[in-house]
Amino acid sequence: MFEKILIANRGEIACRILATCRRLGVATVAIYSEVDADALHVRRADEAYCIGAAAARDSYLAAERVIAAARRSGAQAIHPGYGFLSESAEFAERVAAAGLVFIGPPVAAMRAMSSKATARELMQRAGVPTLPGYQGEQQSPAYLRREAERVGYPVLIKAVAGGGGKGMRLVAAAAEFDAALLACQREAAASFGDARVLLEKYLQQPRHIEVQVFGDASGAVVHLFERDCSAQRRHQKVIEESPAPGLTDAQRAVLTQAGCAAARAVGYTGAGTVEFLLDRAGQFYFIEMNTRIQVEHPVTEMITGIDLVEWQLRIAAGERLPLEQHAIGREGHAIEARLYAEVPEAGFLPSSGTLRRFELPPATAALRLETGIEAGDRVSIDYDPMLAKVIARADSRIAALAALQAALAQVRIAGVGNNLLFLRRLLASEPLQRGGIDTEFIEGHLPELLRNTATDASIEAQAAAAATLWTIAQEQHAPAAATPWERSDGWRLNATLTRLLQWEFAACAPLAASTPAAAQTDAKLIEVQVEYRASGLGLRIGSRHASAVLHDLGGDRYLLRWGDRSERVQILEDGPRQLQIGRALDCYRLRRRDALAAVEGPQQAESSLAAPMPGRIIALLSKPGEAVAKGTPLLIIEAMKMEHTLRAPADGSVRAYRAAVGEQIEEGAQLIDFEAAAP
Ligand code: ADP
Repeated sequence: MFEKILIANRGEIACRILATCRRLGVATVAIYSEVDADALHVRRADEAYCIGAAAARDSYLAAERVIAAARRSGAQAIHPGYGFLSESAEFAERVAAAGLVFIGPPVAAMRAMSSKATARELMQRAGVPTLPGYQGEQQSPAYLRREAERVGYPVLIKAVAGGGGKGMRLVAAAAEFDAALLACQREAAASFGDARVLLEKYLQQPRHIEVQVFGDASGAVVHLFERDCSAQRRHQKVIEESPAPGLTDAQRAVLTQAGCAAARAVGYTGAGTVEFLLDRAGQFYFIEMNTRIQVEHPVTEMITGIDLVEWQLRIAAGERLPLEQHAIGREGHAIEARLYAEVPEAGFLPSSGTLRRFELPPATAALRLETGIEAGDRVSIDYDPMLAKVIARADSRIAALAALQAALAQVRIAGVGNNLLFLRRLLASEPLQRGGIDTEFIEGHLPELLRNTATDASIEAQAAAAATLWTIAQEQHAPAAATPWERSDGWRLNATLTRLLQWEFAACAPLAASTPAAAQTDAKLIEVQVEYRASGLGLRIGSRHASAVLHDLGGDRYLLRWGDRSERVQILEDGPRQLQIGRALDCYRLRRRDALAAVEGPQQAESSLAAPMPGRIIALLSKPGEAVAKGTPLLIIEAMKMEHTLRAPADGSVRAYRAAVGEQIEEGAQLIDFEAAAP
């Protein structure tokens, strides 16, 4: 076994690898970028080296710097984790040339599998089923169009060098082929530096099922069963489980054998994942092999009791596979949910910012939590926006699901957009509970997964009442004022004070901390009249007028009693004057208008327009000084292949743009100074 290894990664996977090293007594070396100096993986490692600036290409992707840090530290091996350099055959080669061990498969196996075209070819030769398609060198549009016709629509165009769900285009009919091909080639060239594509028959409503394999230098290959990763958004996984629900023993045998055959075909060693699609007739087709540890490996560990990272280290150190196939068993069911800093309502765009709150339930033998971030840390736009993985194991699938749901109900995240509620709704949905959803399920059910079940005015009034009472309670907890005149709790000599609180209200789409409410399509204003009476508080919203109390039940939960109605709510402070009111699996987001904004009127308050998400400016549409009508598009941002338009909040004109075309911007950056026309 190694004495010291360098972990060429960050975040949860770096922390995950560290944990195994600690248990095995292997010393650890972390690397970090300038923005990660205080990150968890740096603090947990035995030693750490700063290797460059925040941008991944200057640090975590800078092969030379990673290798230099390894040499400096005296580490014998490098574990690449997943992402970054983990699937770079060139990096693996350079590591070996530096006299270090790359903890991964042989370079030749990485090369073979890194091209989706070569992989398809090899699998066909090894008798592993693939989908009808074309993976040849001919790349002219006319030739590819003829091949697409032969394969039959719908067809998927995939970048040969693609990965992470990028560089894929679905073509439903011949008329769309040329445009889709151009777009795919452009994206492939930009993202992977290789414009080549392949064609593959598009399977309707398949399930994604993958096999965990391991090989060693003696040529032995075993599998550690399968994982079902069909719950995907943007072709990226969000929930994974093992075993795959509803698979028969015969199907499992075919699948796992195909997985092992794929690994043998490339002389595989170490941990790998062979991905298949399962069609509705029960047939499996190879789609690709990932030559590294997967994000979702913990579900396999939870049911097999095997530490996959330990096996990786042992095999890389030259040991044989620790167990033979017959000795590898499984017990129970495990499910993982990935918590992301992203906004499901905005097409799952990544979110960035400072984590005001980040609380996970305590780990147990049946509940694993993997994270590399803590409250107070910044979620940077430079890296993958995953916040944590929550993995539950139980004897049955239903019990594991329930345990995962209970765990997620205890998670608290504030300060950055996140998919917590989306995951909870997804896990609670009937098809997911039943098991065996397909990869199109999320896409096809987005409205239900994103929408609140209750949206009537009385529910919104309840939320505004809760927000108002919570705000007043906070004011009263604030340090006591020196004189009665500085008190903010409504105290007045000889009179009942009434006070007006205004809440900008978005039922579903989050209010990004810096986005003017006017830019949010469904934001509306609710006004709450507060009466400070001797007997307590009275609230008036519209025609509803009654005394109201908020009881703190602990753990962010409250009992709201307003007149003759009472209900439990969860209240979370998401930012300055910004609250999330949760009610079962519904969530209402409210932001209090500040007094100044109320005095100056909405047009003044909305005089600058901010970026709702990190991205790149692709167009400035108005000339400064030119009169524009309310709603006129002013600027376009591109993020994650999607365009977002900022519009004029009122009649007026752009005073100045604060960013230029091509510029990379952070969420919340002020982009436009806008001057509203005099009313
Ligand atoms: P990447 O390397 O970008 O992850 P994959 O080839 O692994 O790309 O595919 C990712 C996901 O895209 C799959 O899990 C599946 O949901 C979808 N997909 C890929 N190929 C097909 C296909 N031929 N038909 C239908 N869906 C597909």
